[in-house]
Amino acid sequence: MQLESMYQEIILDHYRRPKGRGLREPYDIEVHHVNPTCGDEITLRVRLSGNEIQDISYEGMGCSISQASASVLYELLDGKDIAHMLATGDDFRTLMQSKGDPTVAEKLEDSLEDAVAFAGVSKYPSRIKCALMSWMALKDATAQALTAHEQSSSQTTHLQSSSPTAGKENT
Ligand code: ZN
Repeated sequence: MQLESMYQEIILDHYRRPKGRGLREPYDIEVHHVNPTCGDEITLRVRLSGNEIQDISYEGMGCSISQASASVLYELLDGKDIAHMLATGDDFRTLMQSKGDPTVAEKLEDSLEDAVAFAGVSKYPSRIKCALMSWMALKDATAQALTAHEQSSSQTTHLQSSSPTAGKENT
């Protein structure tokens, strides 16, 4: 019981005082995700530098679980590399599938930090989507940003190799 109320406090604290909230520039990709069953929305921007997530910024509206989840996500993953983000995302999904099993939450505590407070949500299937929405938005935005980076770098290579006279035109 004590643990449950501590978890509640963590979620409410992130809801009332969200970390990193607000849309910032510059950014690579902006995505908009909705959770129609609850009416939650998030607009999330991501900026990558190589394999590192340099900035996550977001705006959203909806229930306390969905909004607190975005704040926790920012705190955990802003400035981290993509591999770490994917691994942490997998851990969070595992927590959401744990159906309230406290041993799962215990094992994931080190990896998930404040995000482990959402353990109780896993008992309520209708709320799991609220907690996962921002995580899915971040994964989506990162994948799109990576694709965009790949395309622009292969385009550059293509231009350089296919136009040997391009340099002459400038002289
Ligand atoms: Zn919700």
